[in-house]
Amino acid sequence: MRKLIAACALLCLVSCGQRGVMRVLTVDDPADLAVLRTPCEDFTSAELRSRAFSRLAERMIATVTDSTQNGVGIAAPQVGVSKRLIVVCRLDQEGEPFVPYANPQIDSTFGDIVVGREGCLSIPGLRGNVPRAYGIVVSYASPDGKSRVSETVVDYTARIFQHEIDHLDGILYTDRTEDTWQVEE
Ligand SMILES: [Zn+2]
Repeated sequence: MRKLIAACALLCLVSCGQRGVMRVLTVDDPADLAVLRTPCEDFTSAELRSRAFSRLAERMIATVTDSTQNGVGIAAPQVGVSKRLIVVCRLDQEGEPFVPYANPQIDSTFGDIVVGREGCLSIPGLRGNVPRAYGIVVSYASPDGKSRVSETVVDYTARIFQHEIDHLDGILYTDRTEDTWQVEE
């Protein structure tokens, strides 16, 4: 049975092509928008240890790093999954890796409110100036799901966390600013 599942997964990988890149939902499509507006649920610790979870994280990384997307972060609802998982490009770490975080939450914020430029893979052709906290204390589930890890993050990486965690609550950056403009993509 396990072999059969593995074979099906491989078949999917081949037929989906491009390393498991997923379709990104956009606000232009009413059905997509409904999903983007749906608050997400936490993963259970059993789910966090499942192959399905690690596969989803891998596919979200493949999607956000795909040459047609070129984003710095992505949240599970953007690929149609209403669960609390985000991927953040750690601009503050060596090599700027893309790292998945399950069940993340912002425990506190500090510093000035800073206005900075944002875009969103789900809102093509638009950019905006968005006010966000300079720094955050963020916590998320440990890989085995048995404890929580807490971390202090600042500057643009903190902005990415805030943008992506908003997605898990059905919030888009355009809810936080009216200062937006069109761009060619
Ligand atoms: Zn976004």
